[in-house]
Amino acid sequence: MPTDAIRELVIATGNAGKLAELRALLAPAGIRVRAQAEFAVPAIEETAASFVENAILKARHASACSGLPALADDSGLAVDALHGAPGVRSARYAGEGAGDEANNRKLLAALAGVPMDGRGARFHCVLALLRYPADPVPLICSGSWEGRIAPSATGQGGFGYDPLFIPLGETRTAAELPREAKNRLSHRAQALAALLEALGAPGGEC
Ligand code: IMP
Repeated sequence: MPTDAIRELVIATGNAGKLAELRALLAPAGIRVRAQAEFAVPAIEETAASFVENAILKARHASACSGLPALADDSGLAVDALHGAPGVRSARYAGEGAGDEANNRKLLAALAGVPMDGRGARFHCVLALLRYPADPVPLICSGSWEGRIAPSATGQGGFGYDPLFIPLGETRTAAELPREAKNRLSHRAQALAALLEALGAPGGEC
């Protein structure tokens, strides 16, 4: 992908937490970030079985609706004791339209009785950047963040499963970390650093 091609893009998400993190992470690159809500992009069903396929679906749709290059993040939590669940179903683990609290409650119930050394998990993030809707060569970058699932929810920051996720080497959950720390360490930060490096943009480093 030409390094100077992207000056403005739409973020293909309706998730306010993701949008805020991606905005903060893209700010140093001098790329103008637009929310898909500005273009009334309707939500699409995430029908695929992998993060990468869902990310491409979302980015293609947002690019078609906005006429801009589009960046989509498909991400989720994979828990070892649950054979990788909730995985691509992370947002709707407790059912269609389920909120973060219901998802977290379901995860805690699924891990009831599992000791801390059996609660290994990681967040995955796949980013797909399409320059235009029919782009046959999407730029794909990914990142992952290793940790464990806490016995109960703690912390007010972040979103999603952050109150249950204790990153490797930490005693606090991701929801207790300062925002800057999450934006430096997370699966999303790692994927975006790789993407910025691929674009040759300032702020890009792996
Ligand atoms: P998506 O919109 O299908 O990619 O759903 C991603 C879901 O994964 C979110 O709704 C959260 O439940 C979870 N998730 C992804 N990234 C994070 C994160 O950084 N913290 C906590 N939960 C996350």
